[in-house]
Amino acid sequence: SVPLSLFAGVGSASRQGILVKGSNYLEALAKVDTFAFDKTGTLTTGRFAVTKISPAGGISEAELLEMTAVCEAKSNHPIAASIAACWKERSDNTEASEGPVTDYHELAGKGISCLYNGRKIYFGNAALMRDIGADFVEATDMGSIVYVADENNYLGYIAVADQIRDNCADTLAELKKLGVKREIMLTGDRLEIAEAVGKAIGVTDIMSELLPGQKVDALETAIAAEGEKNRLVFVGDGINDAPVLARADVGIAMGAFGSDAAVEAADVVIMTDDISRLTAVMKIARKTMKICR
Ligand code: ADP
Ligand code: MG
Repeated sequence: SVPLSLFAGVGSASRQGILVKGSNYLEALAKVDTFAFDKTGTLTTGRFAVTKISPAGGISEAELLEMTAVCEAKSNHPIAASIAACWKERSDNTEASEGPVTDYHELAGKGISCLYNGRKIYFGNAALMRDIGADFVEATDMGSIVYVADENNYLGYIAVADQIRDNCADTLAELKKLGVKREIMLTGDRLEIAEAVGKAIGVTDIMSELLPGQKVDALETAIAAEGEKNRLVFVGDGINDAPVLARADVGIAMGAFGSDAAVEAADVVIMTDDISRLTAVMKIARKTMKICR
């Protein structure tokens, strides 16, 4: 039988904006040794600002921004929404129309491709540009870069910058005080950006440029490195990381409002957009297990 205090723990979490899908997850949280974090949308807000528009191949800034905004309107990646917002701000257009976009594909962890007015265009990171053999030069701007190319020409890039969440560094430091021994960052973004974020929040254990499937492999390796009694938590936003949320001993979804997949795959859902809820749920887990024993 499940001790009553475990139910009390679940209730107390829910009053603090944390949905715990079963009291067994509080038990697991009390034994956590390792916290693995997704970067974009988890350690960072996922609300990007466009910092540079750099066209190439004879098109204008406005053309590059428009084609990117219109095509990215089909994506639910946080980068996509920020580019749409920038286009809306700079032009008289009210909404990114989906009219000229057909044959849309998500290239998980890399970007998207589609037909824009019948012309095949790719939008995404440097790995995607290398895949298609685009003739491009890597940008030196800080932030994430969305490169754009059609099948014959490189068309330029848009740089977008994200912000680290409020209370992020303090939360990670406090998790360590609560007994977490290892904190890892798993990200699809490039190493330079991952390291800059890591430096600001005190995480040096970083795995970058991971495709969604490779995130699961990285997690398996981290789980294997733990002792029998220890548990591993993964915290993600569900964009490209639902499989990792599902694989962790405890998957915590954070800022997952746009993503039903994350709420589905997670064991614990942070209902407010506040990363310090992680220490709150850890404290509840600890307290609950002490009462149980
Ligand atoms: P993270 O692991 O940090 O959450 P993702 O796995 O979601 O990052 O994405 C990895 C990288 O793939 C992004 O940093 C970006 O460069 C690229 N990317 C993914 N989706 C898109 C998109 N819709 N448009 C442009 N680039 C994208
Ligand atoms: Mg993410």
